[in-house]
Amino acid sequence: MSKACRICHMIHEKTASMCTNCKTQDLSSEYTGEIFIINPEESDVAQRMKISKSGHYALRVR
Ligand SMILES: [Zn+2]
Repeated sequence: MSKACRICHMIHEKTASMCTNCKTQDLSSEYTGEIFIINPEESDVAQRMKISKSGHYALRVR
């Protein structure tokens, strides 16, 4: 099970202790849904989630 950042929703390895995207340690292993954002500028989902970098994200983080 991986971990997702509570701030930006980016998904990381379960061994990660910090989000490499926004540099917080606010990671949670409880999340639902996963999405790969390739082109944030062209993705409605990315804009709605305020994602500006391509990557692997969780849809919902608890
Ligand atoms: Zn983050």
